[in-house]
Amino acid sequence: MKSILESLCSTESVRSNSEMKFNFGRRLNALFSGQKRHEDLIDEIEELLISADFGVEFTMEISSELRKRLSSSGNQDPRFLLTDLIREKMSQAQIHGPSAGLSAHLIFGVNGSGKTTTAAKLAYRFKQQGRRVLIAAADTYRDAAIEQLLEWSRRADVPVIKQFQGSDPGAVVYDACEAAQHREVHDLIIDTAGRLHTKERLMDELAKIGRVLDRKLPEAARKKLLVIDATTGQNALSQALQFNEYIGVDEIIITKLDSSAKGGIACAVSGMLNIPISYAGTGEKMEDLIEFNIDEYLRMLFSPI
Ligand code: GDP
Ligand code: MG
Repeated sequence: MKSILESLCSTESVRSNSEMKFNFGRRLNALFSGQKRHEDLIDEIEELLISADFGVEFTMEISSELRKRLSSSGNQDPRFLLTDLIREKMSQAQIHGPSAGLSAHLIFGVNGSGKTTTAAKLAYRFKQQGRRVLIAAADTYRDAAIEQLLEWSRRADVPVIKQFQGSDPGAVVYDACEAAQHREVHDLIIDTAGRLHTKERLMDELAKIGRVLDRKLPEAARKKLLVIDATTGQNALSQALQFNEYIGVDEIIITKLDSSAKGGIACAVSGMLNIPISYAGTGEKMEDLIEFNIDEYLRMLFSPI
């Protein structure tokens, strides 16, 4: 598997911006240079974590635990204590890999978070692994959404079940479930319309799609995948909370890590909700999707490039 760092550094734009993007590690290292009282160190760490999008609540959880560990750890390097702590706080839940039978991947999130791109990237990835893949175009809301998906699916060479703009997304998913069973598909990937997590009607529509899946594919592995955009900062946290409350989230896919100057949001969302991150989007191309690995992510975040 390609490391996050390798992937993030695989494009010129990212490489040229790497100074700006990964200065968290450098700033952190600077904090640890010289002798400091623990309290001063903790204050500075708090400030740094908040500026890197870890969020106030998550930062406070980390700093209060760090305070305890610093006083009981003798002279262990505080950097290791901090990394260990963040790793422990992120969800350790197991991510289930490809299953032998049918898996349905329901993709949702707010507008522009990268759902359609991610649906196509996943389809491409599964297809490369030799699996039979089908996409459902259940974003029937936005102009040109179906076209956008068809364009991606042509490139990925994966068939699409669609209706037309304005049709009931539940009906599209119903048809897609039937097709997936007839064609003995391994992975059914369902792209949905972007919805504001605060709009109840749209959330109900998503819940309905979930019920269609439960009814039509009771035997299948059904995954609810929330797509969040790393560049939206703390807003991503409230989105994740609401989506989780309404329909439940099994895994998070974090997109646009290549464009985000701050990395803490991934830790905060996974840690605060106790939901694992399965994949990360690292660019706009079909191959720009990597399996998320906590250790590599933390190494990337903390390395003083
Ligand atoms: P949707 O509205 O959630 O379906 O979002 P789209 O899939 O249409 O993506 C919105 C924009 O984000 C498009 O311009 C994508 O090319 C871009 N995008 C999606 N994922 C990534 C990513 O991982 N990195 C970057 N840089 N751009 C992305
Ligand atoms: Mg879309």
